[in-house]
Amino acid sequence: MKYYDTVILGAGLAGLSAGCVLTRAGKTICVVEKNSSVGGLARTVEHRGFRFDLGGHRFIAQNNKTEQFVLDVLDHNALIVPRSSKIYLRNKFIDYPLKPANALLGLGLKPTIHVLADYAATLARNIVAPRRPVSLEEWVVKKFGRAMFDLYFREYSEKVWGMPCSRISKDWAARRIDGLSLGEAIKNAFSGRNTKQIKSLADSFLYPLRGIGDIAERLRKDIERENTVLTDTSVVRINHDGHTITSVMTKTGQHLHGRQADDYIASIPLTQLVSMLRPAAPPAVVEAAARLAFRDLVIVTIMLDREQVTDLTWMYFPEKNIPFGRIHEPKNWSPLMAPKGKTHIVAEYFCFAGDPVWSASDTELAAMTVDRLSDMGFIKAREVIDSSVLRVPKAYPLFDVDYARHCDVITGYLEGFKNLHLSGRSGMFRYYNMDHAIESGIETAERIRNRRPSSQEVEPALVEA
Ligand SMILES: Cc1cc2nc3c(=O)[nH]c(=O)nc-3n(C[C@H](O)[C@H](O)[C@H](O)COP(=O)(O)OP(=O)(O)OC[C@H]3O[C@@H](n4cnc5c(N)ncnc54)[C@H](O)[C@@H]3O)c2cc1C
Repeated sequence: MKYYDTVILGAGLAGLSAGCVLTRAGKTICVVEKNSSVGGLARTVEHRGFRFDLGGHRFIAQNNKTEQFVLDVLDHNALIVPRSSKIYLRNKFIDYPLKPANALLGLGLKPTIHVLADYAATLARNIVAPRRPVSLEEWVVKKFGRAMFDLYFREYSEKVWGMPCSRISKDWAARRIDGLSLGEAIKNAFSGRNTKQIKSLADSFLYPLRGIGDIAERLRKDIERENTVLTDTSVVRINHDGHTITSVMTKTGQHLHGRQADDYIASIPLTQLVSMLRPAAPPAVVEAAARLAFRDLVIVTIMLDREQVTDLTWMYFPEKNIPFGRIHEPKNWSPLMAPKGKTHIVAEYFCFAGDPVWSASDTELAAMTVDRLSDMGFIKAREVIDSSVLRVPKAYPLFDVDYARHCDVITGYLEGFKNLHLSGRSGMFRYYNMDHAIESGIETAERIRNRRPSSQEVEPALVEA
């Protein structure tokens, strides 16, 4: 059995940030990661000279401390990328963030009048008969009117989440995801507010030269100056005595190892954590975990013998007849992402593990992507030189209208373990962006550090006593 101050489960940005803070504080730690590389959802893949994220990851920090942390980790080697995105709707390109004339009038005069009249009626209804929204549909209709909901929200939200908007929690809306920001942007246009005041509509973002995965790679290096990051190693069991976690079992290849620590930081999916507890969690907790779900993702990348396809950072496809939801061209984020004279398009397919998209062969997925991109006039089939398909499980915690109740049951039980600390996006089942994941890792580590100072931090007099 190996002993540490802290064992960290998962080497995504939350786990690595926690590991970095604890390493700097002189702690003995071990980070355990099941994948062969670090970074989790925020990793960059290299494929025969082409680099791409699992869906383009822009870094925007809500607070300066997190931004500074990331800039320091990157040694300030990051680009400031101007954001330039469009929505492809009804064979038209609409600027995103929305410009009012383009967004509404671009769709025709009749829909515009309909949206505006409906919006006015909604405002009146909210005053006469106010209601507390529960679902995404209710939230959006209350804020922007049903016509706007039907035009801009329904299809994209249902594509992302794979369920009706009446079943999606309004909490997701509160996180200002991109589909929703579309409405925010129109609302801003109505109210005359400046889009720069809203982070999700910011017109530029930070991006490391060699892809978002650089952040995780650098964090790993910092940790490995003093400590260990184990890749290709899964946590398979979490032992406890009812009040404390006593050890974890990890598996590398066929070899099992026991690892013991004062504290355990868990950034692996919350549902998995529950299933690994020994003795098993109470039936109500296991049942609650079974009711939480994740949305999965298939990333199809098409490599092209061509200089550039668009000058955009992202393009959104809300319509259901287009099988992917979003594309990006990594070269437009950093020129180091593609070999000279070549480019690639990364398409995101939102799906559930085991459904027809997830189960389709790589060849079928690549062919479907090439066909659709060609049909829409973005590429020509003869330009395609290679493709890559990646399946990303548990990409999005699924916020249905009941998720909070189930989460409360689980976290209420886990709070009983005084040395277990949940952190990060899937670890806490929160709709976290990278900055939130990093922040939650830092905060967790600081809490542990402050509660259990290492020998270097303890006053000499106290050490002697
Ligand atoms: C398509 C997409 C686009 C996104 N775009 C943006 C963006 O533009 N900007 C932004 O700020 N955020 C974006 N995000 C969100 C961002 O990716 C996450 O907030 C962040 O990466 C979460 O980090 P984490 O460490 O909390 O979780 P994760 O990255 O999920 O890390 C958890 C880690 O635990 C590991 N693990 C799981 N089970 C085990 C086990 N049994 N044993 C050992 N290890 C295990 C996993 O392999 C993983 O490495 C995007 C997310 C997606 C899916």
